[in-house]
Amino acid sequence: RWPELQPRDSRSRLVVLAGPTAVGKGTVASHIKEHHPEIHLSVSATTRKPRPGEVDGEHYFFVDDDEFDRMIAAGELLEHATVHNAYRYGTPRRPIEAALAEGRTVLLEIDLQGARQVRAADPSATLVFLLPPSWDELVQRLVGRGTEDAAERARRLRTAKAELASQGEFDYRVVNDDVARAADEVARLAR
Ligand code: 5GP
Repeated sequence: RWPELQPRDSRSRLVVLAGPTAVGKGTVASHIKEHHPEIHLSVSATTRKPRPGEVDGEHYFFVDDDEFDRMIAAGELLEHATVHNAYRYGTPRRPIEAALAEGRTVLLEIDLQGARQVRAADPSATLVFLLPPSWDELVQRLVGRGTEDAAERARRLRTAKAELASQGEFDYRVVNDDVARAADEVARLAR
């Protein structure tokens, strides 16, 4: 059974969207950004290199390891984690506090380690877990996007299994069967 949710007005407007690899968190977040501009989508800092088409300050703040260390030391990150044993990702605190102070809802699209840190920092944050329609569908999506080799895919799928087992820590589950539908559901929960 899911725990009873607190009434909306006693929960903060901080909403975390997490879920396993290849479930489509990024696509759902982009859809929300486009169709629900009232929601402030947090821009993370990362040490990974930009992919083609990614814009610094829009998709991520692309920083080097020294700058990332500095941000941690200066307390500028609300949470941070090393994802897929590779690069570091973190949520800048300032823009979130500013948006919340304006009464806006803030959405973080981050991994499970980050979601746990946000919950620890703010127990009233709303945690949403994005689920694939099925396990087979998740495997298909990961193979289909073709951005990882077989060894990396196997590793991510092991992580995904463990992450799926953690869904009970979340307040809501949303199935990503259709991007627009799932995005609208997340946006509704975030209101
Ligand atoms: P990608 O490199 O494909 O954009 O993202 C890889 C993973 O990093 C995704 O699972 C994404 O949710 C996660 N991620 C992105 N930004 C953050 C962040 O600020 N903090 C944490 N903990 N994870 C993040």
